[in-house]
Amino acid sequence: MKVPLLDLKPQYAQIKDKVIPELLDIIENQAFILGPRVDKLESEISQYIGTKHALGCSSGTDALLLALMALDIGRDDEVITTPYTFFATAGSIARVGAVARFVDIEPDTYLMRVDQIEKAITPKTKAIMPVHLFGQCVDMKPLMEIAKKHNLKVIEDACQAIGSKYDGTQAGAFGEVGCFSFFPSKNLGCFGDGGLCTTSDSALQERLKGLRVHGGVVQYQHQEIGLNARIDAIQAAVISVKLPLLAGWTEGRRHNASLYNKLFADNKKVVTPVEKSGRYHIYNQYVIRVDNRDALKAHLGEKGIGCSVYYPLSLHQQNCFANLGYRQGDFPESERAAATTIALPIFSELSEEQIRYVAETINAFTNA
Ligand SMILES: *Cc1c(COP(=O)(O)O)cnc(C)c1O
Repeated sequence: MKVPLLDLKPQYAQIKDKVIPELLDIIENQAFILGPRVDKLESEISQYIGTKHALGCSSGTDALLLALMALDIGRDDEVITTPYTFFATAGSIARVGAVARFVDIEPDTYLMRVDQIEKAITPKTKAIMPVHLFGQCVDMKPLMEIAKKHNLKVIEDACQAIGSKYDGTQAGAFGEVGCFSFFPSKNLGCFGDGGLCTTSDSALQERLKGLRVHGGVVQYQHQEIGLNARIDAIQAAVISVKLPLLAGWTEGRRHNASLYNKLFADNKKVVTPVEKSGRYHIYNQYVIRVDNRDALKAHLGEKGIGCSVYYPLSLHQQNCFANLGYRQGDFPESERAAATTIALPIFSELSEEQIRYVAETINAFTNA
């Protein structure tokens, strides 16, 4: 049996009849940049997340960049975040000239330790960038209290967390700006690159809108230097067609996760993901922890099972961040997660038979 880590074709089959006429219409009209489909997407997503505004953009990375720029975070400002995340989180902070200050992660959820944030605050700290990693929200209640107390902005990296909830509030609705990615492997993916910012601050929305088109809302008049960070009409149309189906796909992922949890329940060698109370995990990734991770990875490859390591090197250990002055051992839980975790196939259309095959293969290997 073959079990891919992710197969997008069965999802495409569900939307094909709706999405092809939309794409054809855009092509026939040769109207690719912004326009009514982007406006429509922005109103649908802001309604879905529960913010006043949304702004479609070219990627999750550019959503983070736009958010930092719109909040005037730049040279020598510090932003507190996690070293155990996709590169773009800290990459965007460095790209605007600011400095990433890391705090370690919780060993059970792999999310940033909110109780470590206050220790990392200095007079230069301007913002906190929590990452709702793998699809579960960071502990946002105490985080927002800390931000308020110290007058810090909050930019949520919700790129893996569309539809994830914390005490009933959607990821991306807590901070000044929420940042989303429509990269194909995210739970809501487009046909290429795409992203989006959410905000309930109307002045900030206007600023983001300008920054998205070279820093000027009025064409050829530039208040500041922005980016070309628009989303294409084609990508907006794809997301609009998919959005009504997202809740069902998320439930499919959650169902698969609970089946894995059951199948691993008696295996002491496999640590399964934890969903904290009050949170709604959307399982962009289903990540387990094992001692012999690299050997397991090789074995799953031989058995036709797709898997991947997110992420093999903690960001404080990346060459490009050597200037931050961190050393091995500074964030032990992040380093331990990088060495011992592995993501398994979790997409909605997996069959029960495939999930049983993955779990049985892992149970046999870890107890051999
Ligand atoms: C995917 C992702 C991003 C970047 O999104 P792109 O659309 O690929 O630019 C940023 N942060 C996290 C945590 C991500 O998973």
